[in-house]
Amino acid sequence: MNLIQDRWIPVRRKSGALERIAPWQVTDRHSEDPFVGLAAPRPDFNGALIQFLIGILQTTCAPLNVFEWKGKLASPPSSEELHKAFTTVAMAFDLDGDGPRFMQDLTLVNELADKESVKLANEIGQLLIEAPGVQALEKNKDLFIKRAQTKRLCPFCAATALFTLQTNAPAGGQGNRMGIRGKSSVISGGGPLTTLVLGKTLWATCWLNVLEKNDFLSSTAADARKLLQSDRFSWLAPTRTSEGGRATTPNDCHPDQVYWAMPRRIRLIFDEPPIAACDICGEKENGAESCTYLAKNLGTNFEGPWKHPLTPYFITADGTPGALHPKPGGIGYRHWLGMVVSNASGKGRKEPARTVARYLRDGEEDLQLWAFGYDMANMKARSWQESTMPLLECPAQFIGVYSTHITGLVSAADLASIELLAQVKKALFRTGAEVRGDLSFVTYRFWQETEAPFYGNVHRLRDALIAGSEVDSILVEWHRILVSHAEHIFDDLSQNGSFDAADPKRIATAWRDLRQSLHGRKMKETLGLPFEKLREKRVRARRRKDADPES
Ligand SMILES: [Zn+2]
Repeated sequence: MNLIQDRWIPVRRKSGALERIAPWQVTDRHSEDPFVGLAAPRPDFNGALIQFLIGILQTTCAPLNVFEWKGKLASPPSSEELHKAFTTVAMAFDLDGDGPRFMQDLTLVNELADKESVKLANEIGQLLIEAPGVQALEKNKDLFIKRAQTKRLCPFCAATALFTLQTNAPAGGQGNRMGIRGKSSVISGGGPLTTLVLGKTLWATCWLNVLEKNDFLSSTAADARKLLQSDRFSWLAPTRTSEGGRATTPNDCHPDQVYWAMPRRIRLIFDEPPIAACDICGEKENGAESCTYLAKNLGTNFEGPWKHPLTPYFITADGTPGALHPKPGGIGYRHWLGMVVSNASGKGRKEPARTVARYLRDGEEDLQLWAFGYDMANMKARSWQESTMPLLECPAQFIGVYSTHITGLVSAADLASIELLAQVKKALFRTGAEVRGDLSFVTYRFWQETEAPFYGNVHRLRDALIAGSEVDSILVEWHRILVSHAEHIFDDLSQNGSFDAADPKRIATAWRDLRQSLHGRKMKETLGLPFEKLREKRVRARRRKDADPES
């Protein structure tokens, strides 16, 4: 099976029709009934497949400039054109056979041949990221995870599971290497957060996230012209392992490796042909094989300043990039700082994915942002996080001031949520007492309830900037929304019995403090609004000082 030539990617047309296509067919019958999305049975598979398509486009037909990019967005290339371009790399996309195989180690079978490789073979379900590790299986700790019932996979799902693992590869213990976005200066070991500009068709979503050729290549010091095909698709040659502590930096490979990084040494073993349906997608026609795989640790160790174009980063003060990773509680507008606009703090700065930043700059209509990734804890997937939210383009000349105001809006909401939680705790527990139970639902509720008004305000803000009208009224309105939601949630919790055990006096004090902070100086300054009382105070203090310089 060849992943360029064969039909294996499940997709949905606008009419609702489901099909499997070869990657080059993504624009098939585009003007009549375009494909509008991927249709894999698992959301993490869709997240991997879209990156596979974007990766092939970036690798084989990156636009030369912004005009070509915009042109092809409006009128896509034909399937035939894409077929011609993709075929140039088809030799690297065989899934099976004796030669090099997509995302699989070239020499593993020979290396393990004398070591009873059958015993070393893993059940195919272990490729899936939520699958419990061997230790958990032995200790039967995987009660809350659907135990890997996955023994038979069709070749389509095997290919997708393999790519999903290699592109997200979290920490795996015992020298199992992480993906190119695994290491982070802040947290290490999580699956990366991926953010995409979501278009109205599958083609648009792919092409919106492809960078101009020079822009893409500028991210690395390696000279792409001097590199071999195996520097791009590492499985065409023996793996550059990490034995002896060897690291692989952007200078050691082709820049395309951000899409085709293979941190894990894996070789699939396909058994005798088709007997039953695939345990993931139910596919029968193309045969599910009772497939296993060989694996060995100490694969490629990606070190250094790797930057993936589809992921937002935290850049430390000394310039080291670390991919952002999803955290519990979902992805929402509270992550806009970093995901959509840059945000600097004392420790460094968060930067949106390059493709998102490019869209804000060069895009021409309001679209959606599609953000997803695994929330990992100690090598285990806690959950798959996924969200779509509005993404508003903004003319280049207003981006600076637009970003400053967005920072104000989100930071003010953050401040309000912190104050709300602090005062709820104060109302519930005596000072110094141990806080029992998980109160994170309080802040989640606050973020959720203010989500829709946030987008409404951002919309008005952007339009006001373009029209040259004042924006203070929008900031004041946002402040009113934050105050009313925080007060309402506090009120609601105190009315509905949540505070039963609490002391009424403590509730009253907490309520007073909540109001004070919501209307306080810090809140107004965060929003960029004038704080009248403060100004008056300052004037009075200056007058006193003028009258009596000794004070
Ligand atoms: Zn399948």
